Amino acid sequence: MATSAPARSDSPALVEPPFASIPLLDLKAQYAGIRGELTDAVTRVFESQHFILGPEVEALEREIAEYVGVEFAIGCASGSDALLLAQMAIGIESGDEIITSTFTFGATAGSIARLKARPVFVDIRPDTFNIDERQLEAAITPRTRAIMPVHLFGLSADMDSILEIAHKHHVPVIEDAAQAIGARWKGEGVGSLGAFGCFSFFPSKNLGGAGDGGMITTNDPQLAQRLRILRAHGARKKYQYELLGINSRIDALQAAILRVKLGYLESWTAGRRRNAENYRALFAEYHLTELLTLPFSPETSFHVYNQYSIRAPHRDELQRYLSDRGISTEVYYPSPLHVEPAFAYLGYRAGDFPNAEVTCREVLSLPIYAELTMDQQRVIVTTIANFYARLAHQ
Ligand SMILES: *Cc1c(COP(=O)(O)O)cnc(C)c1O
Repeated sequence: MATSAPARSDSPALVEPPFASIPLLDLKAQYAGIRGELTDAVTRVFESQHFILGPEVEALEREIAEYVGVEFAIGCASGSDALLLAQMAIGIESGDEIITSTFTFGATAGSIARLKARPVFVDIRPDTFNIDERQLEAAITPRTRAIMPVHLFGLSADMDSILEIAHKHHVPVIEDAAQAIGARWKGEGVGSLGAFGCFSFFPSKNLGGAGDGGMITTNDPQLAQRLRILRAHGARKKYQYELLGINSRIDALQAAILRVKLGYLESWTAGRRRNAENYRALFAEYHLTELLTLPFSPETSFHVYNQYSIRAPHRDELQRYLSDRGISTEVYYPSPLHVEPAFAYLGYRAGDFPNAEVTCREVLSLPIYAELTMDQQRVIVTTIANFYARLAHQ
């Protein structure tokens, strides 16, 4: 990558925009538009005094199943538990290996390690940030029990290649779709392609609750039944313990809130995608498209932009420069999992997955939420342009 912006006479004038206050995600702006509906939903649950499972949870499960395009959806306490329960449902145990990406949120590999199974990491593709399907097969061993791709930042991994390798080696695919509800691969909803889809309703996800929540999707009636038993102490009927389960349900209150928000998800996603287009146009206008690497979305994918992650030279200085001017950004993620202390026992070393390691030094996620305005986007892009212009003149 070049390290500074070329001086272009046809660039818009680089004037210092007024001090901005632009959060990475503005949930108050979202709330302002749906306050009344949320209050009604919460009141409905309080009036019923039905807090655990019941009609709101069942309705949300039906609605998510339909939205994702699967037969069954099973609510649980978080996205992390969704990953854990999916593995429990197929009997993952000590010594089993599950292949996943090293460039992801800790819970992806953490859920594997919690069952005493072994996360086997694979490097990412530099263009999509997702697991490199071309390096996947080399990670398969006789102990491989599942493949867990992550649809990072809201972009589907290459599901054709992943499913082909999985079928060839007779292992199921557990999709970590925590960041990608509504994303599609060749028209099919993520979470509907593998044996399981695992979703999170953490407040910063595209469909975020008022706290923690998660959902597992599947087309297999037997697995769906096992998941329902496993999330409720392993009991199909009260006090009859068929399996060793856990307590991991989604609250009726969360379900009622999420049902309201699900009605807006398509329009919020459209807003995120429009903002991604706006960024592309603005960065082009300021001649920054060669200096920065903007998110890539292949033809096969419908990107839902849970994060808008660019690669930027002098990333840390840029982030500080933006922060000093009231613009919040985030580094997802500062370090790949294979070098994190919690996974040191796996024996990986720095240098094992160079694409992920370089990416961690370059990525920066910019505000992309649906309520972000074009004016705000222009302030962000102008400020970035100013940063590189100053750098060039140093
Ligand atoms: C958020 C997230 C999770 C975990 O979801 P929680 O609901 O926070 O437990 C898992 N994997 C990925 C990729 C995530 O982004």
